Amino acid sequence: MPPIERLMRNVVLDGTCWRATKGIRKDGYCQIEVAGKKVLGHRLSYEHFTGPIADGLKLDHVRERGCRFRSCINPAHLEPVTHGENIRRGTQAERTRAYYDALWANRTHCDHGHRLAEVGIYTEERDGMVTRKCAGCRRETKSETHRKAMADPAKAASIRERNRLAVARYRAKRAAA
Ligand SMILES: [Zn+2]
Ligand SMILES: [Zn+2]
Repeated sequence: MPPIERLMRNVVLDGTCWRATKGIRKDGYCQIEVAGKKVLGHRLSYEHFTGPIADGLKLDHVRERGCRFRSCINPAHLEPVTHGENIRRGTQAERTRAYYDALWANRTHCDHGHRLAEVGIYTEERDGMVTRKCAGCRRETKSETHRKAMADPAKAASIRERNRLAVARYRAKRAAA
């Protein structure tokens, strides 16, 4: 099967992004193996649908075109830029981090009255996005969601099953190491 087909098989539409769901690296980009070599999914897609990328140019995921994911391979969201320009624009993670930094700067309490100095701010970095929220709120939402789910026998069973599998995977990994 041609690489582009393998890539397109594991894409979901998310807004106008073509979000790859397989081969996602830690930094949020997707990669795919082509003839024994790892290539970036968004570069493969761009070259297939739009055309070759000139030597030394990076493909920028353009937020102004509605792009929200590093794992996005929509060629219409991608623009070849020089490495310097790419850095100047900053990564999505940097931009989102700056957004949340500004949002939380000078705040002592969250909207729900948690004292931030006490509960802390929770940071999550996933898929090239940084999210920062009140750690107190997050803990409460998590435990509330958990409590509700456990009250439903079907959900409780699936949570227990998921935990059991996670433990089994963890043990297998430890045994293999
Ligand atoms: Zn996109
Ligand atoms: Zn809070």
